Amino acid sequence: MKNYFSFSLILISIGSFAQNPSRESMDPKVTEVWDLKPKKITPGTNPSDAPSDAIVLFDGKDLSKWSTLAGSDAKWDVKDGAMTVVKGAGDIKTKQTFGDMQLHIEWRAPAEVVGDGQGRGNSGIFLQERYELQVLDSYESVTYSNGQAGAIYKQSIPLVNACLKPGEWQTYDVIYTAPRFSDNGRVIVPAYITIIHNGVVIQNHTQINGPTEYRGMAVYQTHGKGSIKLQDHGNPVSFRNIWVREL
Ligand code: MG
Repeated sequence: MKNYFSFSLILISIGSFAQNPSRESMDPKVTEVWDLKPKKITPGTNPSDAPSDAIVLFDGKDLSKWSTLAGSDAKWDVKDGAMTVVKGAGDIKTKQTFGDMQLHIEWRAPAEVVGDGQGRGNSGIFLQERYELQVLDSYESVTYSNGQAGAIYKQSIPLVNACLKPGEWQTYDVIYTAPRFSDNGRVIVPAYITIIHNGVVIQNHTQINGPTEYRGMAVYQTHGKGSIKLQDHGNPVSFRNIWVREL
């Protein structure tokens, strides 16, 4: 068996050499990169902790990084390290705008179950104020599949339903690439999104087809960097540990 293994290795080596005769004589250092080094950062102790190069958008204390859509002070409730939608207070958005990003955000549907479908624990995370990653209590409640938790709303169904029970904290880790537009406003490269929900990949480099629409098809319109917007859908959904890394 050992001899057969050695013989196979020799055959593989001869085969490789025949395909690329110059490789054997090549100095391995030719393909080593030494002068460019990735910036050294300190990861968080736990997955929910912000790494040293992250921008912390909500640390559980206040909404200083957030405003209403009109730009006034955000009026959501802040208590016990979490922010919670106050019905009628309206959507809130980050004061800072972003393009490509890694986003960590934790959310919790209300423990007291009220309503069904789109009316049970509904909120949403709009990337660049336009593209909604759905937040919803989809643990047992049924709705249209491209509108459940983890969907790119009305566009892309999550690969699996990784929801926890209402009242439990859940995580979204998002890797997002913003769309690219030409000078005349046409989309050259659409947005792409990868989402890990409670440690499980539910969107894998999913193409976003355009801004979220409740009615009709999505159509891209050119834009620059945008805020992260959180939705007031009238349900007391909570968020915590929100941080972002620009990519
Ligand atoms: Mg929503």
